[in-house]
Amino acid sequence: MRLFEAIVEANHRALSGDKTAGLRPDEFTDALPVVALTCIDPRLNPLIPEVLGVREEHFIWLRNAGNIIFDSMSSMMRTLALACAVKGGKEIAIVGHTDCLVCKTTILQLTERFRQLGVERARLPENLVEFFGLSASERQNVLKSADIVRHSPLIGPKIPVHGLLLDITNGKLEWLVNGYQTLDTFRTATSATAERSSPASTPLAELPSLAVGEMKFPEFKIGDAHVVTQTQTTPVPTETAEATSEPAAGPAAKLVEKTKSAAGAVQKVLRLEAAQKYRIVASDRKIYGPVTGGKIMEWIADGRIDWQTLAKPEGGSEWKPLSAWAASAAKDALSQLLPPKIQSFFRSKH
Ligand SMILES: [Zn+2]
Repeated sequence: MRLFEAIVEANHRALSGDKTAGLRPDEFTDALPVVALTCIDPRLNPLIPEVLGVREEHFIWLRNAGNIIFDSMSSMMRTLALACAVKGGKEIAIVGHTDCLVCKTTILQLTERFRQLGVERARLPENLVEFFGLSASERQNVLKSADIVRHSPLIGPKIPVHGLLLDITNGKLEWLVNGYQTLDTFRTATSATAERSSPASTPLAELPSLAVGEMKFPEFKIGDAHVVTQTQTTPVPTETAEATSEPAAGPAAKLVEKTKSAAGAVQKVLRLEAAQKYRIVASDRKIYGPVTGGKIMEWIADGRIDWQTLAKPEGGSEWKPLSAWAASAAKDALSQLLPPKIQSFFRSKH
């Protein structure tokens, strides 16, 4: 039995009244210390150590509001990485909890609370959902965070990344992501990818398809800036509705598309051929263009449209999301990490 198998088993046995249930950390020294990311909720202060059952010296406890991982290179991600690299963390657990106020607070309530604290709405970023990483579902949030950590380039293939949900009313742990299983899948996928890719440039045709339908989309209560599911099923308007001006500013674009392929998640930086012309369907359902790939990339950078926007190359007849027309530079992804998204939120304020 491995560490988290023992933790979850002891937890469930204890809750069913087994007085002998417990963890013997000494049997799991290879898996310790454990690194846990939890919410800031003070109700967790006494609960988490008790639920995990590992000794203080074996427990690296990271916290932020809502146990959120923003992206694979975020500051929390760097702390997780150093918790493993410097402090010897052997396994990572993202532990969400029920009744999380970060998930339950609506945007209206949040802006009102900020207002009471003397922070006017106009001073806050436009998209509060994205800015604070708010999620309507504690469960989805854990799944998403565990997935980002698992595929972060900062976390090596030896570290299991678990996702758990803690019932704050009774201390019951639900194991949402079994890090041992995803680790095996991840290792297989990583080695398969390594075998396939040549050191020189990879021909475009060999790149894995985007497989938009297989992507996991988090649930969000408000706002659509995270990942809007405008897949091929979006009805395509007729060309009689063509508009010529530029589309209005919309949600900030996701320049780095996180996509799932058969070989596992790959971070891709997408690019359009600058001279190729496209027509696009903006969020107002009007068709714009033809415009060049270069112009479209500008619009994406400005947050007017995103990579899910339907587009058709000039002379073509098929509508697909822009991401499907784009070439990706997966191998350059690390060197091309983009400026912090916060810039586009504040641009309109200045
Ligand atoms: Zn919380």
